[in-house]
Amino acid sequence: MPSLFGMYGYDRFGGRSADIGAAADAQRAASQARDAEQRVKALEESVAKTLLICESLWEIVRDRAGIGDETLFEKLREIDLRDGVLDGKNQAKPTECPSCKRRLSNRHARCLYCGYAFEKSTFEL
Ligand SMILES: [Zn+2]
Repeated sequence: MPSLFGMYGYDRFGGRSADIGAAADAQRAASQARDAEQRVKALEESVAKTLLICESLWEIVRDRAGIGDETLFEKLREIDLRDGVLDGKNQAKPTECPSCKRRLSNRHARCLYCGYAFEKSTFEL
């Protein structure tokens, strides 16, 4: 049963309990926003580093093998289309298990229903 203080929105120290709760919620939300911002910044740095490595590797391969950028673009297009959509990524959609025919997400290494082991590309997320 709520106390008389609580019933009228005051805590026992004389403050408004709703205000205190709202302040705590705001503080928690601000902390979560800072954490998310730091994670995004770390991901951006990671992506920039990965792009730099890819560009370096491509230039080594291009220069040593004597192939042109058009070969890279053709391969990018071919791989991009493997999931059926030309959208700048190759990430498969939910699939049907070849064994039990149930549909499930591609993020599993095995079928959740029958245990069938899926073959996954090394580059799939
Ligand atoms: Zn299955």
